[in-house]
Formats: sequence, structure tokens, C-alpha cells
Amino acid sequence: MIKRLLDRIFKPKHAKPEHSQVTPANTQHHHSHRAVLSTKKPRHKNADSVNHGALTIPHKTHKIDRNLLSNAALKTTEGLHKEGYQAFIVGGAVRDLLLNRVPKDFDVATNATPEEVNRIFRRSRLIGKRFRLVHVLFGDETIEVSTFRGSHLEDSSDAKVAESGRIIRDNVFGSIIDDAVRRDFTVNALYYDPSSQEVLDFHDGYADIKAGLLRMIGKPETRYAEDPVRMLRAVRLSAKLGLKIDAATQAPIAKMADLLQDVPPSRLFDEMLKLFLSGHAMESVNALREQHLHHGLLPMLDVVLEQPMGERFVMLALKNTDDRILSGKSANPSFLFATLLWHEMLAAWETYKADGHHAIPALHMAMSEVIATQAEKLAIHNRYTATMKEIWGLQPRFEQRAGKRPFSLLTHPRYRAGYDFLLLRCESGELPMELGEWWTNFANAEGETRTAMLQADTSPKKRKKRNRKKAAGTSAVNNAAE
Ligand code: ATP
Ligand code: MG
Repeated sequence: MIKRLLDRIFKPKHAKPEHSQVTPANTQHHHSHRAVLSTKKPRHKNADSVNHGALTIPHKTHKIDRNLLSNAALKTTEGLHKEGYQAFIVGGAVRDLLLNRVPKDFDVATNATPEEVNRIFRRSRLIGKRFRLVHVLFGDETIEVSTFRGSHLEDSSDAKVAESGRIIRDNVFGSIIDDAVRRDFTVNALYYDPSSQEVLDFHDGYADIKAGLLRMIGKPETRYAEDPVRMLRAVRLSAKLGLKIDAATQAPIAKMADLLQDVPPSRLFDEMLKLFLSGHAMESVNALREQHLHHGLLPMLDVVLEQPMGERFVMLALKNTDDRILSGKSANPSFLFATLLWHEMLAAWETYKADGHHAIPALHMAMSEVIATQAEKLAIHNRYTATMKEIWGLQPRFEQRAGKRPFSLLTHPRYRAGYDFLLLRCESGELPMELGEWWTNFANAEGETRTAMLQADTSPKKRKKRNRKKAAGTSAVNNAAE
């Protein structure tokens, strides 16, 4: 029997009848819940009785190094096992380990209810409404523990489905089989038991990993209708993991992209943040554009990307972020969102100035307008918008190179972000390189060398400022930017 299992795992994909032709029709059939049970049961009788129809992949085959598991994840599964529950490491962590990548975080799935999990671990808390979970804390690590989810065909107090098919609440518990079928991609539905070191595979995820394929479990159309964010996840995970999106998984995206409009803006924001900070933002944004998924997301980004200067700026910023993340540095989401919307902000600023507003009030009006329009689709958290405005607001100040102003700008808490932003503007061709270089040299220079760099002060003298205070409708700040 073991030989048969191994054959099944290692046999080339085309040799397997269910994968021989990847047409939507046979994929749907094979990957529907019923099909999995009916096709697998007879073939793995023994494994089935133990593992509910899953393929069991032993350690000697998958070779996951137990040392790469987080201690917190191990303690969590051990704690649950000790109380007689099933507990597996599941999802992205197993997938990443099989792809020889370092997992970002560890999720655990169990047949214990959230309340039971909460009782077992002293340092744990119940979270979530749409999807109830427990966070178990060990040191500074948090393990997300979810109870096996069941399927739900009708609304109840635990489950709610919108008319479009979108799942709004999802708290019906079920078996591990139910849990696996509800996950999005086959490679995300692998269950690793650290004590037996076996991986349970209900949907041929292991074979798909080996074949480099990202494949939706079940009928892709239905799964995207249940949760349109899965379209974004397909794009993000394929870019990040270098997996090819399976043809049937890819096909419906073009016509279903509009469903993203119904997704709550805060959820879109979380997903986009993951995408932008994945280390593969540039590739992901290009893929989103190819699939016309970017329209609903950053409603202004599509406008920005259509002008060559805007596109150049955004692509430079994304490349910059990717390089930082891939070299282990952190990237500031506020900075990134400020870059994505900068050219839209510039256009709005110009409009306000053309309407007769002074530069700085016009800048503030433009910043608020751009952020408000954006928030209708993608709720950028307030803590980010405040910093975005600071970074944007500093930009006019970099164009003043006389008197005391450059000195005070150097001491501004956001100077560094503002300066990095300025450099991107120079590199994209929006501003002369000379300006960026001047600031680089000015910041590095000392004493008299620094003073000698200052340009002649042509700004209005203080005496004038006093007069202006009396004049209605003008402020000293207005003039400062001109
Ligand atoms: P990442 O490496 O970005 O964390 P991930 O696959 O682990 O990727 P999570 O958001 O952490 O993504 O989700 C954990 C697991 O939960 C997934 O692997 C998948 O099995 C399941 N999952 C997450 N989002 C969905 C979804 N929208 N629909 C179905 N299953 C999902
Ligand atoms: Mg994860």
C-alpha cells in the first residue's frame, strides 16, 4: 500500500487520470468534495480509515525539518494533543516549508472549539466575529488556532451567505475533511502533525507543490463568489511563491473581477498590505493590472499607472520596497501608500492651485480629497494616512534651500521618510537629480561647508511677515511654499 501511495505522489501529473486534462469540467468534478471522497476511498482503504480519505505523506517523503517549526506552534499542538484533541500545523506554514521557504507565521487547526482552546492555554484570547479564532501566546509569538470549519448551505446564527454567494459569517464547525475543502488552494490544505511528522493531503496539494501549481479547491467560480478576495490571493501567492496559477483557477478571474467591489474596504486593505509587503509587490501589481483586478482596489492607482511619469514613480517605489523586504529590512506602509497616490495628489494639488488657492492650503485640500476618495474602496487606516500627509506635506519644504529652513527640516521627525520620497521623485524624473544630491550633501556636510551650500535668501523678510498678519486670507505659511 505504501508503494501505491508513493507512486501516487511521485507519478508525473499527466499520468494521473484526474489531472490528465485540466479543463474546467473535469477539475470541477475531481475537486468537488464528493469527488474527493468517492475517488480516494477505494484507492487508499487503510489510510482512509485512519485519515478520512487523505493521502498520508510520511516524513521520509516530505522531509520537513522539525527544527524549522516555531516552538510556540509545537507547544500549541502538544498542548491540544495532551487534552485528547487533534491538532495540526496547517496552511501557509506547511506550504512554505515544503517549498523550502521560511514560514512567516504558524497556524494551527484543531477539533477543539475556540472555548476549549481558550481554556487549555492560560495565555490565549478569543478573537474574530466573522471567523472566530483563538490567539495562543508564547513569549512574543502568537499562534492562530482555528477550529475545523464545516460547510453551510443555509443561513443560521453561525453562518451567513450574501445573495452574491459571498460568505459573511463562517462559524459552523466540522470535521477535518470539511475544513480542508473550505480552504482556498490545494497547497494551502495540507495538515502537518508534528508528533507523527506526517502530512495529510486531501486535495493533492503535495503533488501540486511539486508541480509548481496554484490550484483552487472545488469549482473556482463558486469559490470566488463566496470570497472574491481569493482572486487577489491567487495573484499574490503565485507571485510570492513562484507558483503558476492553474488554467481553470485562472479562467474565471477576468469576468469575476468586479465582485471585489462588494468586499468591505478594511478587508481589502489588509489583503493589499500583505501584497505590497510580500517582497514581490512589483510583480503582483503587474499581474493585477494584466488581470484588470487593480481597478477596484486603488481606484486612483489605475489613473496614475496610465501616465508614464506616474507609472515610473510607482514602479520605482515598488521595486524599492521589494528590495528592502527581500534584504530583511522593514518597509513603512505609509511611505508606500504615499508613493502610490502621489501623482494623483499632485494632479489634485494643481487643480486647487489653478482654482486660485494658495499653495499650502491647496496641498491640504488635495491630500484630504485623495485620501477620502481612496477610502471609499480601500480603507487606509488613520494611523497610516496621518504619516502619508506628513510625508507629502514635507515635499515643498525640500525646494527651499536658503536661510534657516533647511536646518529645521533636517530636525523634522519625518525628515528621513521625506528625503527618501524626494529621492524617488528625482529618480523618476519629476525633479532634477541635482536637488536630491544637494540634500544628500547638505545632510552629510558640517559647519561652514554646510552653511556655504545655502542658496541666497530671496524669501520675504520678517518685517513683511508682521504686515501680512494683518492682511486677511493670507498666512505666512502660504508664502513659505512659493
Ligand atoms: P501567507 O504566507 O501570506 O500568510 P497564507 O496562505 O498562510 O499565506 P493566511 O491568510 O495566513 O494565508 O491564511 C492561512 C490559511 O487559511 C491559508 O493557507 C488557507 O488555507 C486559509 N485561508 C486563508 N484565506 C482564505 C480564504 N479567503 N478562503 C479560504 N481559505 C483561506
Ligand atoms: Mg499565514
